[in-house]
Amino acid sequence: MSNPELVVVAPDLSDRERAGFEAITPFVHLNSQEDAVNLSAQARAAVTAMAVKFHGAVGGDQMDRFENLKTIANFGVGYDQIDVAAATARGITVTNTPDVLNDDVADLTLAMMLAVARTIVDGDAWVRSGRWATGEAMPLNRKMSGASVGIVGLGRIGQVIANRLGAFDMDIHYHSRSPKDVPYTYHADVVDLARSVDWLVIALVGGKETEGYISREVIDALGAEGVVINISRGSTVDEGALLDALEQGRIAGAGLDVFLNEPRIDPRFLALNQVVLQPHQGSATVQTRVAMGDLQRDNIAAHFAQRPLLSPVN
Ligand code: NAP
Repeated sequence: MSNPELVVVAPDLSDRERAGFEAITPFVHLNSQEDAVNLSAQARAAVTAMAVKFHGAVGGDQMDRFENLKTIANFGVGYDQIDVAAATARGITVTNTPDVLNDDVADLTLAMMLAVARTIVDGDAWVRSGRWATGEAMPLNRKMSGASVGIVGLGRIGQVIANRLGAFDMDIHYHSRSPKDVPYTYHADVVDLARSVDWLVIALVGGKETEGYISREVIDALGAEGVVINISRGSTVDEGALLDALEQGRIAGAGLDVFLNEPRIDPRFLALNQVVLQPHQGSATVQTRVAMGDLQRDNIAAHFAQRPLLSPVN
């Protein structure tokens, strides 16, 4: 029997995902990229498509191990772990799963904002601890509706976040590389944006180009009433500067779904009360994970049917 043309690298492959790939072509399922590069030379030579569902790096040296590889289908809209320039140089097309997760990521953004503003986590602990029952009054919290908010990166997800913020009557500002046809206030300079708002929502792409985009200067410009919400990638924020500012009370709080070195995040975060921490679960609903898997599968199906790929990024 000939070797499969498809490799699926996924530590957690659902039954639906497995069945979806099976309906297209026989495949090899592996838990890690390391397992993939260690396949026999014969097995690697047969591979024309790879479906990946993990956050580990996929670099040019790994691509070189698969001389006939033409498509890498990523599970997720962010593909900063894949060296796309290296893929392009080798004639490999990378696909991602855009749009199907916008709602969930935007919902979690608003949930984190409300959790920080209205101290939802503290409120829950207050009730459970019995302090409310003894008549003790919880400290007052903060109004979010009507406040000023800046979105850094008004892309697909940033736009959907803005739609939701509009329902909270927020004064919406944004920074992107160029102004868009939207009724929000544009700032060509991200420091200027931070200076103009109290809430800063980061919805940028990750990767080298945006590393440390939310710099010490941006965080300082946000000021003592400022709250940083990050649903993009840990790499977009100067994490040391953010931790310093939070510890020193130079900004008011943060809501973070993504971190450097996740899931083993900097322990300094754990001591901060005014920060809501989430385990990178922006798109992690049952419904959206199904939609992401379906789109990844459909890209793989298009590859094998020699049809145009649905969501190429290069
Ligand atoms: P998108 O539509 O491509 O939007 C990305 C934004 O990043 C755009 O506004 C773009 O600016 C900006 N950008 C790109 N390159 C830049 C650069 N070199 N300098 C400055 N700005 C740059 O992407 P999306 O679908 O909204 O997704 C955004 C990111 O969210 C993903 O890449 C992923 O990392 C993250 N994400 C996180 C989760 C989670 O679970 N927390 C889930 C899904 C996605 P322009 O407007 O100027 O082009």
